[in-house]
Amino acid sequence: MPLSNSQYDEILREYHAKQIRNQRLAESRKKEVYKKNPRLKEIDDAVSTCSVIQARKLLNGHREALNSLHEEINGYREERLLILKEMGYTEDYFIPDYDCSDCKDSGFVKGQRCHCFKQRAIDLVYTQSNIKSILKEENFQTFSYKYYSKIEINPATGLTSLETMKKAVAECRRFIEEFDNKFLNLFLYGDTGVGKTFLSNCVAKELLDTGHSVIYFTAFQLFDIFEKNTFRNDRDSDIIAAHQNIFDCDLLIIDDLGTEMPNSFTISQLFLCINERILRKKSTIISTNLPIKQMAQIYSERTFSRISSNYIMLKLFGDDIRIQKKIR
Ligand SMILES: [Zn+2]
Repeated sequence: MPLSNSQYDEILREYHAKQIRNQRLAESRKKEVYKKNPRLKEIDDAVSTCSVIQARKLLNGHREALNSLHEEINGYREERLLILKEMGYTEDYFIPDYDCSDCKDSGFVKGQRCHCFKQRAIDLVYTQSNIKSILKEENFQTFSYKYYSKIEINPATGLTSLETMKKAVAECRRFIEEFDNKFLNLFLYGDTGVGKTFLSNCVAKELLDTGHSVIYFTAFQLFDIFEKNTFRNDRDSDIIAAHQNIFDCDLLIIDDLGTEMPNSFTISQLFLCINERILRKKSTIISTNLPIKQMAQIYSERTFSRISSNYIMLKLFGDDIRIQKKIR
């Protein structure tokens, strides 16, 4: 995830602060337990003394003395565990409550940036905090079928609005479940207010919660970045980074395609973006109010054929939920 230097420093500072917080917590818990049973402090001190001796002997080539030290340390460890157990503690008590247990809040795993680092970078670059608050409201837990009719039938498919939505939700669930193993993309289309954005938010929330990097853009925002990256002479490292992240993130959501003003630039950029992500096997969700036919007319057959052969096409059908909510 490309970042400017100042952004990189800012993230490192955050991780550093987290590590200090964790360390303090671990220390205060240790103190609390030592106070209750001073023998534990003696044991910990003895173990660290043994470890120092062990290291010194190793340096001096006295390998034969190591076995007995090893046994001694194990003895202490067993005693420690026993005492803790009697006091009603587990060893976990000294492990801090990490925000991310994968990297223990260091931001790195085996020298590579952890998924939490990558997502933090995205949040910082796009200041997507507004998305986070939307995702609290719009997710599978808050999703409701009550706005979808059991009577209204889509003549093209013979399915009711409710059946159509249930099918779409099942497809989205499959998309999430198979995300790490299968390269899948979603194309959600249908009239305004049938729940396309809500559904893509549901998917975004699930994938964010499982440590994937997700970028959400309306088509307008996406093309704005492409434009700045292409035409501005004064483009800064933030814009360059943002542009690259569009191709790198695990999931890109392009919402409301067709609401921007399409022109030859946006049309070619859309092809480039979709095509590049397909080549990199990075998943994308596109939502649009446009009918399929119009989609191909506006964005070219070439783009549409990439979409139709690589995306799961889900047509949603029903009455405008926003209007329904207002009436109720
Ligand atoms: Zn992490």
